[in-house]
Amino acid sequence: IAKDQGKNNFQLNRAGKNKQVFEYMELENDLRKALEREQFVVYYQPQININTGFVIGVEALVRWQHPERGLVSPAQFIPLAEETGLIAQISEWVMREACRQARQWQVEKSQYFKVSVNLSSSQFQQMDLVDKVRRILQETELHPQYLDLEITESIAMHNIDFVIAKLKLLELLGVHISIDDFGTGFSSLSYLKKFPIHTLKIDRSFIQDITTDPDDASIVTAIRWMARSLNLDVVVEGVETHEQLEFLRTIDCDKVQGYFYCKPVPAREFERLVTLGELMI
Ligand code: C2E
Ligand code: MG
Ligand code: MG
Ligand code: MG
Repeated sequence: IAKDQGKNNFQLNRAGKNKQVFEYMELENDLRKALEREQFVVYYQPQININTGFVIGVEALVRWQHPERGLVSPAQFIPLAEETGLIAQISEWVMREACRQARQWQVEKSQYFKVSVNLSSSQFQQMDLVDKVRRILQETELHPQYLDLEITESIAMHNIDFVIAKLKLLELLGVHISIDDFGTGFSSLSYLKKFPIHTLKIDRSFIQDITTDPDDASIVTAIRWMARSLNLDVVVEGVETHEQLEFLRTIDCDKVQGYFYCKPVPAREFERLVTLGELMI
C-alpha cells in the first residue's frame, strides 16, 4: 500500500508539474500578444519632497492588464519577459509611454517633474540603448533633463568599463541616472565615484523596520551621509508610516516615495489627486 501511495504521490507531483509548465507556456504565449493587444498600462507613483510637500518626480511602473488574470504585477512577468527576450520591446514601449505622458502633463497642465523609468539588465546591455533613448526623447519632445533612468547595482556590476562608457553617453544626452534598490547589491562602493550618477534610491527593505531596528537605522543614516559627501541625491523608497517619515526627517532625508503618500496609480488617477490638491506639484 505504501508503495502504491508513493507512486500516486509521484503521479500527483508530475501532474502538478505538468500543470505548472503548461501555465507557464500559456502565460508566455499571452505575453507575446500583450503588446499588440495593448494590454500594458503604466502606473505612476510620486516622489515627494517632505519639507515642501511637492511632487518632485514620478516613477513609471508597468502593469499587465490580463483579460482573465486581471492586473499582473511586474514582479510576475518581468522575469518571464527577460527569459523570452520580450523585455526589449516592452521596455521600449514603457519608456515611450512614460515620456509621452510626462510631456503631455507639461504641455496641457504646466506640470514639470522628472519621470523615472526602470531599465532591465538586458536593456542596459543593448548596443543601441543610447540611440533608442535619444529617439524616444525626440519623438515625444521631452527634454532629457526630465527623464531619469533607474538601474540596479547588479546591472552596474556587470562589466564596469562598459557600464561607465554607456553611462557617460547617457549623461551627454542629458538624462538623469539613479541607482535603484541601493544597498541590496552587495557590490563594491567604489563605483559610486566612477559612475556619472545623480541619485541613490535606498531600498525599501531598510525602511520597513527603521523605527525599531537600530541596524537599519544606522545603515540608512550612513548611506545618507555618504551620499551627501559624494554629492549624490537620496530618495527613500517604501515609506509607509508617519513614524518612518519622522525618523527620516531627523537624518535629513527629504525625498521619499511610498504608500504613505501615494500608491502607484494610473495617469488619470494621478491627475485627479493633483487636481484635488492631495498631491502638490
Ligand atoms: P522598483 O523599481 O524598486 O519599484 C518600486 C516598487 O516598490 C514598486 O513595485 C512599488 O509599487 C513598490 N512600492 C512603492 N512604495 C511602496 C511602499 O510604501 N510599500 C511597499 N510594500 N511597496 C512599495 P511594483 O510596481 O510591483 O514593481 C516591482 C518592480 O518591478 C520594480 O521595483 C522594478 O524593479 C520592476 N519594474 C516595474 N516596472 C518596470 C518596467 O517598466 N521595466 C522594468 N525593467 N522593470 C520594471
Ligand atoms: Mg525603480
Ligand atoms: Mg527600487
Ligand atoms: Mg526593485
